[in-house]
Amino acid sequence: MATVSRNRRPQSTALVRYRSARTPRLPILVVLTLATVALLTGCSSGEPISGEDYLLGTILRVTIQDTGYSQQLLDRVFARVGEIEALMSTTEADYPSTELLELNRASGTAAIPISDDTREVLESALYYSTITDGAFDVTIWPLVRLWDITGEQPFRVPPADAIGEASALVDYSILELREDGSAYLPVAGMGADVGGIAKGYAADVSAAMLREAGVEHALLDFGGNIMVIGAKIDGTPWRIGVQRPDATRNSYIGIVTVADKSVVTSGPYERFQVVDGVRYHHILDPATGYPAESDLEQVTIVSDVSMDADALSTASFVLGLDLALELIEALAGVEAILVTTDREVYVTTGIGDSFRLTDSDFRMADDGR
Ligand code: AMP
Ligand code: MG
Repeated sequence: MATVSRNRRPQSTALVRYRSARTPRLPILVVLTLATVALLTGCSSGEPISGEDYLLGTILRVTIQDTGYSQQLLDRVFARVGEIEALMSTTEADYPSTELLELNRASGTAAIPISDDTREVLESALYYSTITDGAFDVTIWPLVRLWDITGEQPFRVPPADAIGEASALVDYSILELREDGSAYLPVAGMGADVGGIAKGYAADVSAAMLREAGVEHALLDFGGNIMVIGAKIDGTPWRIGVQRPDATRNSYIGIVTVADKSVVTSGPYERFQVVDGVRYHHILDPATGYPAESDLEQVTIVSDVSMDADALSTASFVLGLDLALELIEALAGVEAILVTTDREVYVTTGIGDSFRLTDSDFRMADDGR
């Protein structure tokens, strides 16, 4: 298996057989909502400072509960996230050139030197592409560009032949991350996209900066990608609301109680367009070229590393309930809360008492997984 293994990543020997075991197509439900995970604000002592910025296509909010820190630290964090965006964005309207845009433009022609940041994200994305057997595929860009779910242009469902052509260019297994510090996409028209993982990387880098500065109690909310440093300053764990998938940001179905963890949610309701009663959304199935049709409506992953949670939440949605449970159970230190389209909630065994369902419109699955 062409696995890129790194120590801090959850250990797995599991390779989920996704292509052969995909579920049949399900009717797509129309659900209106805005975002992913809502923070349940609790009372805290001390004088927190907080700041926000708009980067990576979302609002980033950082709250430091320890005293003695200045806004400058938050500014440095946001500037660093801005650097990451400028390296890895594939939004040509925002950036004439980024490392990923250049890599994609040089597909089939030339290898492109990449920074350590981009390499780290591509390595991780390649790892998750491999262990999910391509349900998560870092070379999804031709399909992302074609569907352009939230682009400036009025949305249209692409013609089937264009979807077929773009799908044929999606193949993580031939992306080359070379020893000389370059990357190469060997077929013209291929492209890498890190939209499913980069927010997690940015959260990890930001949390590391805060920890280095001595911060012990902080919350980072990168558009629903949550990362918490320590417990709250009063010593109690952070309480993170898992957003209700068919409601707005402030409505939640349950609470995860965590310290020093990342909590990341993915779901089709985050970005979608409805055409003729059909919901077309932003999580694409590399095997079909269409928005993934899943028996899940929402996936929340709890892990130490936000990049892992980010990739796995997107991947689990594509994999569907059974394969997602199999994958997450096989990974050490990673847990999941999976909500089906039937409003059943499944949790992995290690979640223990840290998740509590509070919304009676949803029910815990009978088998207690
Ligand atoms: P997330 O919001 O983290 O679930 O990621 C969704 C984003 O990931 C999309 O907007 C795309 O940029 C990208 N994406 C969509 N489908 C896939 C896929 N199957 N594998 C990898 N990335 C994907
Ligand atoms: Mg993701």
